[in-house]
Amino acid sequence: MQNQYTCKCCGRTWDLSDLRRKRFICPECGYYFRIPARERIRTVCDRGTFEEWFGDMTTTNRLNHEGYDEKLEKAKEATGLNEAVITGKGEMFGSPFALAVCDSNFLMGSMGYVVGEKITRMIERATDEKLPVFVFCCSGGARMQEGLISLMQMEKTAAAVARHGQAGLLYCTILTDPTMGGVTASFAMLGDVIAAEPGAEIGFAGKRVIRQTIGEELPHGFQTAEFMEKHGMIDGIVERRVMKKVLFFMLHSHSDRYKTTGAENIREIISKSGANPPLFKSETKSKWEKVRSIRSSDFVPTMTYISKIFDIFIELKGDRKYRDDRSVVGGIALIDGRPVTVITEYRGYDIKEAVERNFGMPMPEGYRKSYRLMKQAEKFNRPIITFINTPGAYCGVGAEERGQGEAIAQNLQLMSTLKVPVLAIIVGEAGSGGALALAVGNEVWMFENAIYSILTPEGFASILWKDASRAEEAAEKMHISAGDLIKLGIVDKVVPEQENGNKKSIDEISAYLKDSILNFLDEMDKKSPDDIVEERYKRFRNM
Ligand SMILES: [Zn+2]
Repeated sequence: MQNQYTCKCCGRTWDLSDLRRKRFICPECGYYFRIPARERIRTVCDRGTFEEWFGDMTTTNRLNHEGYDEKLEKAKEATGLNEAVITGKGEMFGSPFALAVCDSNFLMGSMGYVVGEKITRMIERATDEKLPVFVFCCSGGARMQEGLISLMQMEKTAAAVARHGQAGLLYCTILTDPTMGGVTASFAMLGDVIAAEPGAEIGFAGKRVIRQTIGEELPHGFQTAEFMEKHGMIDGIVERRVMKKVLFFMLHSHSDRYKTTGAENIREIISKSGANPPLFKSETKSKWEKVRSIRSSDFVPTMTYISKIFDIFIELKGDRKYRDDRSVVGGIALIDGRPVTVITEYRGYDIKEAVERNFGMPMPEGYRKSYRLMKQAEKFNRPIITFINTPGAYCGVGAEERGQGEAIAQNLQLMSTLKVPVLAIIVGEAGSGGALALAVGNEVWMFENAIYSILTPEGFASILWKDASRAEEAAEKMHISAGDLIKLGIVDKVVPEQENGNKKSIDEISAYLKDSILNFLDEMDKKSPDDIVEERYKRFRNM
């Protein structure tokens, strides 16, 4: 193996031992070196736990491609590896998992028969042994010297991932620099969770090919991890220094291990994340004032409650189709150590964030992200808790082009069939179908001062009386308050925001919610999945 490494970014040269200590991050400039597979294994497996599987498989030149034998010999000599992937089993903070680590130093990590076969065998064995799988991907694509045999590895690995998934097991990929071609179009992009390292080049067709085909310059940052995140293709970018912790969180939250690992234990392993909450200031009197205060910037954002109720929250981004909609935030959270999926419509903390979050008005891709996360929750038997605060689904040309109605309809249908409990909490404004798309719960709770309506009071007034200025009068007539809706059976529980005429603090409300959510989960634990579906179905069937 190579003993000296020169940084592509700052030009400094480092010894292997220097880089090992720094997880192959340049100590001078922070550049991410491509990590040799054996070194990568050291960064994620507990010391001495890695057991290699299928390590003696080697490639033969089946198509007698000229020069291939020599290339293989050279690659073996340079890397000390048999092929471009190492497969096996290891432990993370004492929890077992199977893994594959690709090595870009071996013929650019290209996928031929042996790479495909080792990954497939590893996934099959993991399915038999009921182990979660982590794959560190990097590849230039399919291996040209093996022709169509190489192409077939794409289908073979994808099929193995499908069977592993049918067994209800976690399959997680980490895309590292570079992950291209046939590998992105197979096992790399099929993760239940897909992480990427910062700056990694990720894409299907190579830049040179695209440029030649379309005859145009490509946008800045094209085919980077950041580009993929923005376009909804990956769950998030994970820095190397926290990689093992994040993967351990995934391992923990996708298994029944939470029953044996206490909250304190996992909190110790993963430091708590969450932003600083702003002051709680909103004051409300009439229903119209409720509407106004919910829209004002000093309303407490849903993420504040989420950061206070849950021990840890890790965001999972993207719809895997078009874009990551920032007005919907979703991910996995722990409540007293127990994993749940949390999804919220989110309007941000301040005006700058509100603009970035489209004022909490989701695009179709926001609903497609929540669809994806709800399916994922069901696969891993995690209850779903949604926090709703939106004026409504975004109305605009792009939203219609990409099927706003279809996206909402799919959510409504999916939520009626989910075999896990769903709890919907209306925190502020719940506007029409855009709110309902997250509010098909076994129970629906509503903050005392929140509103839930078919459309805005202005819209109601302009349709009914052709006069938007009569919004205040409309708000009174619309039956949009928690008190009105509990009478109609649309809401099950009012979350009190006041006590003896005094505003409760964010901490008091959060504590009340945490208690109530834990009770809800206890009650749901007593029910079978079929009963959970049936109850939710009946709840809405009776409307
Ligand atoms: Zn450097």
